Amino acid sequence: MKEIGHFINGKHVQGTSGRTSNVYNPATGEVQAAVALASDAELRAAVESAKAAQPKWAATNPQRRARVFFKFVELLNRDLNELAVLLSSEHGKTVEDSKGDIIRGLEVCEFVCGIPHLQKGEFTEGAGPAIDMYSIRQPVGIGAGITPFNFPGMIPMWMFAPAIACGNAFILKPSERDPSLPIRLAELMIEAGLPAGILNVVNGDKGAVDAILTDPDIGAVSFVGSTPIARYVYGTAAMNGKRAQCFGGAKNHMIIMPDADLDQAVNALMGAGYGSAGERCMAVSVAVPVGEETANRLVEKLIPQIESLRIGPYTDDKADMGPLVTKEAQTRVKGLIDSGVEQGAKLLVDGRDFKLQGYEDGYFVGGCLFDHVTPDMDIYKTEIFGPVLSVVRAKNYEDALELPMKHEYGNGVAIYTRDGDAARDFASRINIGMIGVNVPIPVPLAYHSFGGWKASSFGDLNQHGTDSIKFWTKTKTITSRWPSGIKSGAEFVMPTMK
Ligand code: NAD
Repeated sequence: MKEIGHFINGKHVQGTSGRTSNVYNPATGEVQAAVALASDAELRAAVESAKAAQPKWAATNPQRRARVFFKFVELLNRDLNELAVLLSSEHGKTVEDSKGDIIRGLEVCEFVCGIPHLQKGEFTEGAGPAIDMYSIRQPVGIGAGITPFNFPGMIPMWMFAPAIACGNAFILKPSERDPSLPIRLAELMIEAGLPAGILNVVNGDKGAVDAILTDPDIGAVSFVGSTPIARYVYGTAAMNGKRAQCFGGAKNHMIIMPDADLDQAVNALMGAGYGSAGERCMAVSVAVPVGEETANRLVEKLIPQIESLRIGPYTDDKADMGPLVTKEAQTRVKGLIDSGVEQGAKLLVDGRDFKLQGYEDGYFVGGCLFDHVTPDMDIYKTEIFGPVLSVVRAKNYEDALELPMKHEYGNGVAIYTRDGDAARDFASRINIGMIGVNVPIPVPLAYHSFGGWKASSFGDLNQHGTDSIKFWTKTKTITSRWPSGIKSGAEFVMPTMK
């Protein structure tokens, strides 16, 4: 069986801990590889290689650092198909969707090609008599990224691209479910000209994460995954004196106003609810039609579309969505659907018994639609992370607004309407990080920043955009007086600019 080890100091390294985790083909249920789970010593070896390589990389001028990313982008484009197939083979999503995963990471690599400009500091000439004051942004040193299974291309690149462009060395701990693409990305970074030791990939589970969180040489940790682990990583990193940005789970609502273009809203719900089998942190999992008539018409239009979803393995290039990532995920999602039925929601489309001929052992769940869902039900409170859409009927705009406002999570939300005033009011009052107006999945582009509010995010700086440059650098401010020096002797009073 294929063994997936680590990538340390520019080379493949076999795991030595004796612990491994299975990597499946989610469409067939077959084990296709075993990924090594790193010990503390293996993580430490990666840190040592990062520590040795980082000072020289930080001293490399920013244009040269940028050129590695120009080349890396070229290589990603060259190998896009091959990379997408590799991703899909472990994740299960369609190859076209995997291309989107990679391209959303590639776009952040394009963004950091501007690092010479992005990392420029600030300068004030004549801040006082003969005094100049300037601030520079220096790399943190060694950064680490802990990433989820659902975007094994995009999220590692969201982290390592700005970190490395800023002059840091980086340790990536990918999800143990789909570890092959991250290793391939590290190989391509070497091919693009990155010195060995600047990007290390250490595979593992909680053991490797804890080794990162307590390592004295790692200065900053970026995490994306479920909320309980995000909260744990944030607290533990802070206790150990590290800066941390930790992004968690979600329950994204889409409000459909009575004046919305209903066909447009239905198409949006289909893509955002069932794309990638609902395994996206920006998936729409709650539809909130305003008014009974809107609700009835919406449900009527959704049912046939959900029933005709094409579900297949990643090798089916016409499939709309694939299987879930693991057997455990499949069992968990089906259990939540059962709970929805037990708690009184109306299951209008039931995908629990979906079976695909020839793929009976795959982790498929068919598209599901619940109507008359209420906020006290588990299917409303919990992030299902599967192809399940819940319709919560609202009487009016204020009731609709209140639902996402009161929900624990605050990642994304959307409103469908033709009324600019309602859209403006909604965007201004809602307590959620990313808002779509007639856009179902409002993931900001690379030069803006990505992040939710409430239990969807811990820490104060977002992913990519200028926030990422701040996160991966420390500010140093220099106050200098030239050329006369301290001629008039010591000053005992706090200096001010009065
Ligand atoms: P997960 O929390 O299970 O795993 C994420 C990472 O944490 C993995 O690398 C995993 O190895 C590690 N991990 C798991 N258990 C751990 C533990 N007990 N201690 C320390 N580390 C541990 O998440 P997942 O299932 O891989 O991903 C799905 C989740 O990620 C969903 O909740 C989804 O909403 C969320 N997500 C959020 C965003 C965002 O930007 N907010 C983006 C993508 C995914």
